[in-house]
Amino acid sequence: MEQTLVIVKPDAVARGLIGEVIRRFEAEGLVVCGLKMVWLAQKEAEGFYQVHRHRPFFESLTHFMASGPCVMMVLEGEKAIGCVRTLMGATDPAEADEGTLRRSFATSIEKNVVHGSDSAASAAFEIPYFFNRLEIIPVAERGETSLA
Ligand code: GDP
Repeated sequence: MEQTLVIVKPDAVARGLIGEVIRRFEAEGLVVCGLKMVWLAQKEAEGFYQVHRHRPFFESLTHFMASGPCVMMVLEGEKAIGCVRTLMGATDPAEADEGTLRRSFATSIEKNVVHGSDSAASAAFEIPYFFNRLEIIPVAERGETSLA
């Protein structure tokens, strides 16, 4: 089992797409095991995207990410990291495959609806950036209340 961090970005939250994004992930068998809404401060957005700090779009990206609330999720499943990336589609919606979230809903390369960790190392940094241990409830710990 793998865990990955997913963010419903401010553009998608503002457009009422939270439910549709979660629905598409759940429909593929991914399990929500952490979930909350957060309005990032500029510094928090900069810390999250620190790997991009030298890129020309860093300031624009971090302003966008701090422009309104995001929905943060931890999703769990077999090969969850790759599965989420496939369902998201390419960064640029013009290059994203038909049926992906970004192809369906993104309005630009920046306002592209959703974030998903791109590797196990990224997930290991990103999940604890937003979630503490008590806020993540893995399927394996759900006992008799689990429908899985
Ligand atoms: P991802 O893993 O597909 O999200 O893409 P990256 O890690 O390369 O970039 C992180 C985020 O920065 C993307 O999801 C976009 O929101 C934004 N971004 C990426 N490339 C560009 C760009 O060329 N211009 C702008 N304005 N934003 C970009």
